[in-house]
Amino acid sequence: MIYKRSSALFAEAQRYIPGGVNSPVRAFKAVGGNPIFVKEAKGAYLYDEDGNKLIDYIASWGPLILGHAYEPVINAVIEKAKKGTSFGMPTEIETQLAELAVSMVPNIDKIRFVNSGTEACMSAVRLARGFTGRDKIIKFAGCYHGHSDSFLIQAGSGAVTFGSPNSPGVTQGTAKDTLLAQYNNLESVKALTAANKGGIAAVIIEPIAGNMGCIIPDERFIKGLRELCTQEGILLIFDEVMTGFRLAKGGAQEVLGIDADIVTFGKVIGGGLPVGAFAARDEIMGHLAPDGPVYQAGTLSGNPLAMSAGLAMLTELNNRPEIFSSLADKTKYLGEGLAQVLKDNNIPFQMNRFGSMISVHFTDEAVVDFETSAKGNNNTFKKYFHGMLKEGVYLPPSAFESYFLNDALSYQDLDDTIAALSNIAKDLKA
Ligand code: PLP
Repeated sequence: MIYKRSSALFAEAQRYIPGGVNSPVRAFKAVGGNPIFVKEAKGAYLYDEDGNKLIDYIASWGPLILGHAYEPVINAVIEKAKKGTSFGMPTEIETQLAELAVSMVPNIDKIRFVNSGTEACMSAVRLARGFTGRDKIIKFAGCYHGHSDSFLIQAGSGAVTFGSPNSPGVTQGTAKDTLLAQYNNLESVKALTAANKGGIAAVIIEPIAGNMGCIIPDERFIKGLRELCTQEGILLIFDEVMTGFRLAKGGAQEVLGIDADIVTFGKVIGGGLPVGAFAARDEIMGHLAPDGPVYQAGTLSGNPLAMSAGLAMLTELNNRPEIFSSLADKTKYLGEGLAQVLKDNNIPFQMNRFGSMISVHFTDEAVVDFETSAKGNNNTFKKYFHGMLKEGVYLPPSAFESYFLNDALSYQDLDDTIAALSNIAKDLKA
């Protein structure tokens, strides 16, 4: 494949945009080489600026569950745009999307729209603090909840009691209120709640994690977490930015059979336009301005174009829920096919999969948390990523990301992807 124009565009972008990108993972730092510039996309395929066609497994990092340029979504946006793009006043479509979302998701009465998953999680934490009157939150190492200060906390030696910033610019004052626990380790949460009795407002978790590759919660862990939060008066926040409207109509709450206190959304709910949301039962949402004292606002929140994309997307998913199981079937088929090739070539790996989320880790050890995920061999991953790219398959350019399958992928595409791995498998060992 030729990437001449992509490389030239990247060089130009670097002159005006830090690192040439508007979100770091796009820059290919984890895998090396230059990023690919997209010209257009349709269905399961990306077409880049050099005329290459790629099978896409990131779907804009999740939102495009029905494939690129899905016509009902595109048409809804076009029609809406003709009537004005933003008013800063209430519009009927906000209520329509809210009503539909509330009807699909268990255990929520009201929903507030924002512009990104980051905003959703940031606002959910503020609401939890306002509701409980407590300051601290617990998050899990390896979970990502957006780039707001409180979430940019990594595990370190002091992590059991106090977090430490992993990005310059996050103050110690903020970091001390974020406590770190280990995914799939209830004891690590219990230790924090015991040491901070009555001080923890919320536990925020990716109920099926997708930001350290795909990681599935152990049943005892996630049920125990729910029980612990209830006992301690802590609000359980499910960050369903990835899983919401992807795993099922009711997201991870539905598939795990667990009620969260606050749920956050992003990605699919916006149909590919910038939307995030947070939702909860009336008792909690009543604390939000203008009904209550917890402030939260946005000039473009509930934007009519974004709402129309989200409404078209959720309407389709609500009317055709079989999409979720058909996507899970495709993901299983892909996972088993890739696994067979890796086994045949004696390449150590772990394949983690849940619904339409899947990731490959090049390690012998089960991947159950951030620590085990980080043990994956990144050199093998780099060869895998670039090898698949040369074969026309676009995977997430980092071992810490889940793939997101979309409904436009055909079984032929999946077979082509498995064949691509067969073609490059011998190079992974070198
Ligand atoms: N929460 C989760 C689980 C995510 O995966 C992401 C983004 O990937 C976010 C929050 C932040 O969303 P956004 O990038 O829309 O701000």
